[in-house]
Order: sequence, then C-alpha cells, then structure tokens
Amino acid sequence: MIGIFGGTFDPVHFGHLRPALDVKQALGLDEMRMIPSFKPPHRIQPVANPGQRLTMLRAAVGDEPDLQIDNCEMLREGESFMVDTLTCLRDESGDEPVCLVLGVDAFLKLDEWHRWREIPELVHIVVTHRPGWQLDMNAASPELQALWRERQVTDSAALAARPAGRIILQAVTSLEISATQIRALVAAGKSPRYLLPDKVWNLIRMHGLYGFAATNNLSKTRVKAKPGKNRNRTLRINK
Ligand code: ATP
Repeated sequence: MIGIFGGTFDPVHFGHLRPALDVKQALGLDEMRMIPSFKPPHRIQPVANPGQRLTMLRAAVGDEPDLQIDNCEMLREGESFMVDTLTCLRDESGDEPVCLVLGVDAFLKLDEWHRWREIPELVHIVVTHRPGWQLDMNAASPELQALWRERQVTDSAALAARPAGRIILQAVTSLEISATQIRALVAAGKSPRYLLPDKVWNLIRMHGLYGFAATNNLSKTRVKAKPGKNRNRTLRINK
C-alpha cells in the first residue's frame, strides 16, 4: 500500500513529519510519499516559492528512509489539483491500494476541492487527528456526511482488500504546530526552534524567509550551509 501526504509545507514541520510516519507504521504502508503542492488551489498562496519549499522538505526528510518526496505537482506546475495527482498515481500503481492522508481540517473541506467526488474512487482516505480540530460530521455538508457514512471502516485490513473507496480515522501523535504559527514567530523575530527540524530552520535563516531579517539577533547564531549534503530522495526530480 502506498501512502500520500500532500501539503503546502510552507514550511514543513514536525506536525507533518511525525503523523506521516505514524500513519505509515500504523497501517503497515510500503511507502509514504510527501507531495508538495506547486500552487495550492484551495487556500491563500504560500510565502516561500515552490523551489524553497521543496528544498526545505528535502532537508527535513533527507535521511529518513520511511518518507519519500514525490515532486510530481512541482513538475506539473499550474494549479495543483489533488485529483490530477491521484489520477496519475492510480494509472501508475494499477490495483495497489493507495491511501491519501488528510488531517481533520483538510478532510472537513474536501467537498470544496476540484472534482472531489472522484477522489474516493481513486484512493482510500485516512483522516488523522489534529489538535484544535474536532471531527464533527454533523457540521459537515450532507454530501460529506453521506460519504463518511457509506465508506467509513474501523479495521485497517479493509484498506488492503481493495485499491480505493474506504475512509478510516487514524490516531497520530498530537502536535499542536502549524506553518502559520511558525511563519508568525519568524516574522516577529522569535525562534520557531523545536517545532521543525533544525535543517529547515537553518534554511529559513539562510534564505531570509518569512521576514527573517539579517538584522535579527537570531542571525548571530551560526548557520551552517551544507551544499550537496542532502541525498536526493525525490522520486521524479529528473523526469
Ligand atoms: P498553514 O498553517 O500554512 O495552513 P499547515 O501547518 O496547516 O499550514 P499544510 O501544509 O497546509 O500545513 O498541511 C498539510 C497536511 O498536513 C494537511 O492534511 C493537514 O491537516 C496536515 N497537518 C498540518 N499540521 C498538522 C499537525 N500539527 N498535526 C496533524 N496534521 C497536520
């Protein structure tokens, strides 16, 4: 089974990385692909550019064999509709089960996504807990409620039995972290350390992202650049 963890990753943080690993381990997935969005269609546009976000993601997962980066949305450019990504993936993976991981916040907005009704036909959906969000299906749209009612399973064995079509709720490590919070800390001249990998924080400082100013007193901390040190784990970067 293949896992898909899509995100804007602006920047990637431990609230992405640990739940991705949790899901891979809990469901016994063969691989977990982190897919950075080139141009996320359903939200305000990212602050860091696509190349910077991909570089930060590579720095974060570079030495983790359980997580891989799939840069198909970066290569495709244009609006990063998840349905397009999943259609490609389904073509490539034949009948292999594919699990799309969505935090509760993302799942509750699924019915706003482009051609969203096709998504459960292409993949299983793994809904993960996220601090600050309740999976209150009564507040969801009638269509999303129906999807949940008809497709929800509690036994993960049901996912392996077919390529797509089921929804499961999966507990993950509770980490109250968001990229918004990290961007705000950096812009306010405060350190976001311990919310994200140090390598990502170093890149933020090196590239002056999110309003990190050269005059900021944090810039006195030595930033070690290690060009060429990150192993290229991107699946399709050379395509
Ligand atoms: P932003 O604050 O810029 O909106 P974000 O931190 O929510 O960003 P995204 O890249 O938008 O991160 O999220 C990608 C996916 O990761 C979504 O499915 C989201 O639910 C999930 N996710 C993000 N942060 C957490 C977290 N702390 N715990 C669990 N899931 C998370």
